[in-house]
Amino acid sequence: MSSKTVKCDLLVIGSGAAGMAAALKAASEGHSVIVAEKSKWLGGTTAISGGWAWVPGNKQGVAEGDTRAEIELYIKTLAKDCFKAEMVQTFLDAVPEAIDWLERETDVEFVYPEMAPDYQMDAPGAKPSGRAISGKVADGRILGQNRLRVRPYLDTYTVFGYMPEVGPDIAQFLHANQSWKSFVYVSKKLVKTWAETVAFRRAFDRTNGNSLMVRMVSSAAKLGIRMWTETPVTEIVRGENGIVRGAVLGGAHEGTVEARLGVVIAAGGYSADASLRARYWRHDPDGANHFTPTVGHDGDNVRLAAPFGGHVDTDVHEPAAWAPVTVFTGLRKQQRLFPHLRAFGLPGLIAVNRHGKRFANESSSYHDFGVAMIEDNADSDRTFGYIIADSKAMRKYGIGYAKPWPIPQGYFKKTGFLHKANTVAELADKIGVDASGLKETLSEFNAGAAQGKDPAFNRGSNWFHHFKGDMEHTPNPNLEPLDRGPYYAAKIQMGDLGAYSGLAVDRHSQVLDDDNRPVPGLFAAGSAAVSIFGGGYPGYGANIGPALVFGYTIGRDAALLAEQRQQPTPSAVTEDV
Ligand SMILES: Cc1cc2nc3c(=O)[nH]c(=O)nc-3n(C[C@H](O)[C@H](O)[C@H](O)COP(=O)(O)OP(=O)(O)OC[C@H]3O[C@@H](n4cnc5c(N)ncnc54)[C@H](O)[C@@H]3O)c2cc1C
Repeated sequence: MSSKTVKCDLLVIGSGAAGMAAALKAASEGHSVIVAEKSKWLGGTTAISGGWAWVPGNKQGVAEGDTRAEIELYIKTLAKDCFKAEMVQTFLDAVPEAIDWLERETDVEFVYPEMAPDYQMDAPGAKPSGRAISGKVADGRILGQNRLRVRPYLDTYTVFGYMPEVGPDIAQFLHANQSWKSFVYVSKKLVKTWAETVAFRRAFDRTNGNSLMVRMVSSAAKLGIRMWTETPVTEIVRGENGIVRGAVLGGAHEGTVEARLGVVIAAGGYSADASLRARYWRHDPDGANHFTPTVGHDGDNVRLAAPFGGHVDTDVHEPAAWAPVTVFTGLRKQQRLFPHLRAFGLPGLIAVNRHGKRFANESSSYHDFGVAMIEDNADSDRTFGYIIADSKAMRKYGIGYAKPWPIPQGYFKKTGFLHKANTVAELADKIGVDASGLKETLSEFNAGAAQGKDPAFNRGSNWFHHFKGDMEHTPNPNLEPLDRGPYYAAKIQMGDLGAYSGLAVDRHSQVLDDDNRPVPGLFAAGSAAVSIFGGGYPGYGANIGPALVFGYTIGRDAALLAEQRQQPTPSAVTEDV
């Protein structure tokens, strides 16, 4: 093992939104920062995400009349018995400062969409806009030599290599088979993408979470932050005084880092660790009933903090941000995942269980849908369902990864993503679903859908549902009978966007030990730490919003906390920051 020792002020483990926010703020305060990233790419799951950040109290929301009281009420309602008052206060206090700082002092730019409804529009305090923002499209060339170091998009999310930007851009893609104007728009985007990919290995325009990471990495390079890829942190070390003082690194920068102000665990959560899932997730006791699209969330957060008494805070009513996925096999026989974050609430699509019965409002959020899917399968060791579409819906919208007309369906069928049959009974047989149950479900659903109603689950009954549907469809943006063959199905299984039950932390994001005392010099943020929403999913960006904000506060406060540790009254540490 190398005995090389490198010194810095702050060591950050992981290069996603949380880690980079901490690194940027600390470096801007004049501290030397190292970001150790175990993957060969920078950006983590954030780089493949939608890039939304739920940051209530931002300037747009305030201008639209959003109030702290409404925000708190909304969060409290969703958190149920797991409301984390102190963490929520800290978050809300810091949102304006963190977002303004990112926009003013770094290359990060956000888009403030006119409409991005909260996910629970029927809950008190919900708002149709003003709380969720997203990363503005970036030109990858701002990265210079680092251009190809940021993780590429999630390939199942791209349309022939292009990743549609959330908002008007994606709307053009969704209408490309219905409007010439949209078709021309999409064609131009695709031709540009292909030409740049052939000539420069990657298209210049970066969208969604990728744009956020391009912008953060660009700023990090300007601030002289050392970004070490292929460098896993294997152990965190502390001095004889009990204060964390660095870590042991492997891989490309094998050796030891001494970090004067401490170490930030921004390594993601444990979604990809079967034994931790088995311990904490009720639907996955054998560790084989879950498929995560997150990257690098291998449970290193838990393992790295354990020697200090760091432990998982399970005081959340849902332990992860759920997102149903379709699991299928690529042409090179690799496992591929498609997270269904939008497609459920479109007219002419429904979701059913193995009995052919609906079990949830398909236009609720992927998180709420996931909760319903887990409950519905509680008596079984495998959690799954099927999205069903008729030929009208398939032709107009497709089913997630299986694109609509005029894209040929052969590939989607060959990879096992899509199943097709001429009749409802035939489809049920093909996918192993109870045929009479499915027929009955369709006749019930169709009767209401024709009137724009869903008496069983109230689908299409609020703004958020409509936003997830087809706003141009009447009489209800979410409802249309499934009555024209052939019929289609895609299997959905349980997936997530990041664990909610993460390391227990205090309001300074300091990791807590077994006695709930802060471990001096050890911080955690992002999916590595417990979610502040208590298991609820408030709106677009429920993971990245807090990751950015708490990353920022760690970078802001680490030096002050270190200074306070030098004071003679250790019990007073952290009180006044
Ligand atoms: C398809 C998709 C879309 C999503 N869209 C959104 C969205 O729009 N808004 C939202 O809020 N959430 C979204 N999410 C969830 C969100 O992306 C993640 O929860 C969030 O990005 C996590 O940020 P993070 O900084 O905690 O971790 P990450 O961005 O995952 O970064 C963690 C990094 O730590 C590295 N790491 C792990 N262990 C070590 C170690 N020992 N040493 C060094 N490095 C290590 C990992 O390799 C990884 O690169 C989405 C997720 C997916 C999959």
